[in-house]
Amino acid sequence: MTSITMQRVTVLGSTGSIGTSTLDVIARHPDRYQVHALTAHTSKEALLNQCLRFRPAVAVLDSEDDAHWLRTELGRARQPTKVMVGPQALCDVARDAHVDIVMAAIVGAAGLLPSLAAAEAGKRVLLANKEALVMGGALFMQAVARSGATLLPIDSEHNAIFQCLPPEHRGGLARHGISQLLLTASGGPFRTWSEAAIAQVTPEQACAHPNWSMGRKISVDSATLMNKGLELIEACWLFDARPDQIQVVVHPQSVIHSMAAYQDGSVLAQMGNPDMRTPIAYGLAWPERIHAGVEALDLFQVARLDFEAADEARFPCLPLAREAMRIGGLSPVVLNAANEVAVEAFLNHRLDFLGIGQLVEEVLSLSINGPADCLESILWADQRARQRADGWLERWSA
Ligand code: NAD
Ligand code: MG
Repeated sequence: MTSITMQRVTVLGSTGSIGTSTLDVIARHPDRYQVHALTAHTSKEALLNQCLRFRPAVAVLDSEDDAHWLRTELGRARQPTKVMVGPQALCDVARDAHVDIVMAAIVGAAGLLPSLAAAEAGKRVLLANKEALVMGGALFMQAVARSGATLLPIDSEHNAIFQCLPPEHRGGLARHGISQLLLTASGGPFRTWSEAAIAQVTPEQACAHPNWSMGRKISVDSATLMNKGLELIEACWLFDARPDQIQVVVHPQSVIHSMAAYQDGSVLAQMGNPDMRTPIAYGLAWPERIHAGVEALDLFQVARLDFEAADEARFPCLPLAREAMRIGGLSPVVLNAANEVAVEAFLNHRLDFLGIGQLVEEVLSLSINGPADCLESILWADQRARQRADGWLERWSA
């Protein structure tokens, strides 16, 4: 029998959808994984419960008040978890020398700095936070190369492609005999709706995804297909691909999680039930395979697999993202920032569903650009795009 060395894990965004699925997989393998740090933004009760169960050395919250509350509760339970506060603490627990694996599962731009800290520190980085790559793809990939970090994509499509590629796949697709990456999309809850019906959708409808249970931001992104656009950008960075080498394939059953097409005509696909614990377990144990608690795929129950092209007229966020990546530089940063503002406004009933694409298009057209070669420029473009998006929203609601 081979001996297993205990791996220490930081879960950034542990109270979210990916975070809780990660802890579910970790709990199945107490002989392999020990939790070093857990972090949340404001969900202090959920974080307390996770601390009582997983006994991390460190817990991080965003505000001093919440941290004070958590310290008091943990003290009452006689648990010695240290409670830290704020964005700097997120970076500290990501780069801590005690940590082997970092699950980067904070949502949005807030995940960029801690994900980057994990990459710079040479950790095994399980990257769910796609916005980090959309914003800082060049910096992130350079940090991975420099530090020798192991980068494992957790987004199900990218995890699928990773599984379908040769182990060494950097240096461009053609070098490895790959002709195209086929990025599957469920099409979201409004795939078959008319534009008139889409114009009326509510946040609750947008967050009710047909196949996946996810956080609210990514659920809205899935409904607008911006999620697929962000994933296209993510795939370009992860696999050294150009946007025109990636084809989006709408596949409503979400059983094939993505594919790689080779020059000899072979197409390799990764399949499974739509459950994020599969890519999470893959990332934790790679190159080994471990139980994830996921039900086995029953092909007779699936019965059929359908494929269709994405309707880019009804879902303009997808072509907007492709165009932002084609332009390059800070454009994807601007796209991401405008989208975050738009999605939040939609969730707060300040913007209608079709307004999301309109706002993103408007802010992208303001040509906030330049190279995305340093953190300062990226954070500047992110802030500026948010200001412009806020300004547009004020005019829109006036
Ligand atoms: P979620 O909203 O369920 O959870 C987000 C987590 O991040 C929570 O723990 C929250 O406390 C924390 N957080 C939020 N804002 C923060 C801030 N400003 N500072 C620090 N922490 C903050 O989101 P999710 O669905 O788990 O998604 C997480 C990431 O994974 C996203 O980038 C998403 O695109 C990606 N992803 C998710 C899925 C999925 O199935 N949920 C699939 C693929 C990729
Ligand atoms: Mg995905």
